[in-house]
Amino acid sequence: MQKKGMLILLMGPSGSGKNTLKAHVEKVFGDQLSFVTSYTSRAPRPGEVPGKTYHYVSREEFEALRDAGKFIEWAEYGANYYGIPLDAVQDALENGKILFRELEHKGYQQIKAKLPHDQYRLIFIDGGDWDHLKRRILGRAPMSEEELALRKESYDIEMAIKPEADAVIVNKDGEVAAAERAIERVVREMLER
Ligand code: 5GP
Repeated sequence: MQKKGMLILLMGPSGSGKNTLKAHVEKVFGDQLSFVTSYTSRAPRPGEVPGKTYHYVSREEFEALRDAGKFIEWAEYGANYYGIPLDAVQDALENGKILFRELEHKGYQQIKAKLPHDQYRLIFIDGGDWDHLKRRILGRAPMSEEELALRKESYDIEMAIKPEADAVIVNKDGEVAAAERAIERVVREMLER
């Protein structure tokens, strides 16, 4: 019998190392997982690939797509919109694919409200306490007080969701290799379910 499709969601506060771990999962499980390209209204960053990293659209285009029912979930994070296209999720669920996607907490709450739990799993990246993450975030690039306050607000909300995650990956400074092994184990188990 064909295995059921599923959505593996990756969530973790800013500075938790989510992107590093996501890249690791893509490298190790690239041929077993499907990856959905989300839409965003933010501008591409250097090195990002349109159509792969995101579909880049204007705010107006995003709103039109959203109003037409294009997204299974959408959120405004900072000054930008983000959304996962519904058709890709439907295709995965109908065709037994395992879809892997990172997202922030508002999007997760919408998916949780829409899908039964056997159709999604949440992996949470715990990068330590706020003081720790703040140092990491500010070490990457300068940031306004306002932007930092926003990240802190998201941090508090995301940490409150942590207890409901199906798996928690601890990613402390200097222990990335251990976190990579941990997420590998977790994804493998989810694939073998
Ligand atoms: P970034 O601009 O750094 O690529 O992403 C900013 C935030 O948006 C991150 O927390 C990221 O996980 C989240 N994000 C990326 N794609 C999506 C999406 O499709 N939906 C939602 N809700 N959040 C997303």
